[in-house]
Amino acid sequence: MNGSDKALQVLQQIFGYSSFRPSQQQIIDCLIQGEDALVLMPTGGGKSLCYQIPALIRSGVGIVISPLIALMQDQVEALRQAGVSAGALNSSLSADEDARLRERLRNGELELLYVAPERLMTPGFQSLLRQIDIALFAIDEAHCVSQWGHDFRPEYIQLSTLHEQFPQVPRIALTATADEPTRREIVQRLNLGQARHFVSGFDRPNIRYRVSDDSSNARQRLLRFIQLDYPDQAGIVYCLSRRKVEETAAWLREKGIEALPYHAGMTQRDRAANQNRFLREDGIVMVATIAFGMGIDKPDVRFVVHMNLPKSLEAYYQETGRAGRDGEPAEALLFYNLQDVITLRQFVEQSDADEQHKRIEVQKLERMLGYCELTSCRRQALLAYFGDELAEPCGNCDTCLNPPETWDGTVAAQKALSCVYHTGQRFGVNYLIDVLMGKDNERMRRFGHHQTSTFGIGEELDRNQWRSLYRQLIAQGYLAVDQEGHGGLRLTHACRPLLRGEQTLELRRLRKEDSRKLRKKKASFQGAQGELWEALRRKRLELAQEQGVPPYVIFHDATLMAMMEYRPQTLAQMSRISGVGERKLEAYGQEFLDVLVAHAVDVTQVTDTVTETLDLFRLGMNAEEIAGRRGLKTSTILSHLAKGIEQGLVELQEVVSVSDEVLAQARELMLEDGEDIRLGRVHEALGGVLDYGVLACIRADLVDSVSS
Ligand code: ADP
Ligand code: ZN
Repeated sequence: MNGSDKALQVLQQIFGYSSFRPSQQQIIDCLIQGEDALVLMPTGGGKSLCYQIPALIRSGVGIVISPLIALMQDQVEALRQAGVSAGALNSSLSADEDARLRERLRNGELELLYVAPERLMTPGFQSLLRQIDIALFAIDEAHCVSQWGHDFRPEYIQLSTLHEQFPQVPRIALTATADEPTRREIVQRLNLGQARHFVSGFDRPNIRYRVSDDSSNARQRLLRFIQLDYPDQAGIVYCLSRRKVEETAAWLREKGIEALPYHAGMTQRDRAANQNRFLREDGIVMVATIAFGMGIDKPDVRFVVHMNLPKSLEAYYQETGRAGRDGEPAEALLFYNLQDVITLRQFVEQSDADEQHKRIEVQKLERMLGYCELTSCRRQALLAYFGDELAEPCGNCDTCLNPPETWDGTVAAQKALSCVYHTGQRFGVNYLIDVLMGKDNERMRRFGHHQTSTFGIGEELDRNQWRSLYRQLIAQGYLAVDQEGHGGLRLTHACRPLLRGEQTLELRRLRKEDSRKLRKKKASFQGAQGELWEALRRKRLELAQEQGVPPYVIFHDATLMAMMEYRPQTLAQMSRISGVGERKLEAYGQEFLDVLVAHAVDVTQVTDTVTETLDLFRLGMNAEEIAGRRGLKTSTILSHLAKGIEQGLVELQEVVSVSDEVLAQARELMLEDGEDIRLGRVHEALGGVLDYGVLACIRADLVDSVSS
């Protein structure tokens, strides 16, 4: 068997996956052949297998250098679950454990060893390494070697000597950080001149990006977002300040959400306890400052919310990247408002950094603001920022799903800017809006602004719309914020052409969130399906708690979902579920089969003939094919499938392909009938274009979604 075949065999038997993802195979082959590799792959792309599999295939132990203890422990646990002998050498071990691990290493009992860089370089460990057989060195988070990047670790610099000391051992450096200077630095500092480069795009297609510029009551909308779209799912909510973290977490808890705080002001112990719960329980929402997240490898984080504007797109992309590592749909939602823009502008203007540094900060902030104000695809803009190109709009961001309206804001902007000018360039937004809207109060009179030419000229917009306009003017650099921190605004040079009418301004129209369009199917299941899903999750949690490990190292959500979809009934069938390798099959297969059997009773309302149809359908046959195979009429088969839809076993969209228009018409007609839907009438009203079987399916779907 050659290396490639072996690799595939290991993938299937040990890890339980059926095929490699793009470029995994080539990377693995490269290492098996003893060559070096530099791998740039986005988070969740599947970097770990790229060194784990060659380490299993080559003789000797694979040494993985990793900067974070939490990350190592997760990986080691996941490997053990898959039946691979692995260990982690770091400062959390007692002297005893440390010695035992070294002993196992010396005896050749380990297939993978994770080690912190500073341990690796100690003379004792170096001499130990020289006595053993080494399969490869994997340098994870390789960007830590770069002084350019944001995670510089001085210990990483010494890794350059690995090459000299062990010239025959192949090395693989991996990172999710893209930019060119960092990449060059990795190659140079790690002596990777001979390495083959494997660069994958940085897109995270499963993450839906959304920016909400409707600043009113973000907290309330956060709650709705969690309750409606992600009930009982894990997520991270980032806030700028510790106080806001505490408040938001407490408030969410009051509303029945399992939310925990995490920030640098808490004791080490409390932080660790909360992080642990986040990792080990299902459905915890972590409310945190940006101090949280580094090294969190939890694959099933379904959403990342920013309650405040991040200070750069790099930070934003890194933080949102913590969602959906498992490749399942996930969402990044950013709430942004005028105050954030003002605050961040002030931060930058007040900082004592040198001019060049300040300029860079300003540019970063501008790019971040520009991103928020986009009217085109957000993913295209994000990827372009990181030097990646996406040819078509993505279809999975808010601007793609619900294109924003723009309006010609030139005249309104002229008014807003004149108002700043005529009041002396020192007032904040609220006061300026008072002037524009002609609010006659004591303060106004004291300053005499009820007599300025801009008093009361802005009645065409409401307060929120003016705020949105000012925000965009600040974001686009027409207005600068005072340095003293009072929020006073002054004009910049950029205003001139606009005030003179030489330039027009297209602005986003402020809109009340229309989340209906954006709202996808709930991440949870309903009816009988929902119970089974909960039962599978409970079983997983129980097994995880017995062993003191996070649930996802037992099985990922995707694996549980596959069980629901295919309903294996034997261990052999179970072994074909993605994510079920040999060891896990042996350890957990029967327990999960039992859960499936226990819940099969929910399906007994479905008769045998229906079951047979559903089974064939799950094998990939369509209604006509099943009809042909079973010698029944297609409409009969469709009526079977309707039962499946009703039970939540099958999706309407999988069964019938009807235009949205006709579908909507049919539904409307059915809703007119109320409780007692008469298919005959609907059939006639539609001029007979839809078969009775198809109508039965549509009805089943309607009943299912109305009753849940
Ligand atoms: P990264 O380190 O690049 O962030 P991981 O190595 O943690 O990503 O992989 C992300 C997820 O994808 C893991 O849950 C892993 O088990 C899964 N995965 C990796 N390769 C495959 C594959 N070929 N088929 C199915 N799942 C895979
Ligand atoms: Zn898009």
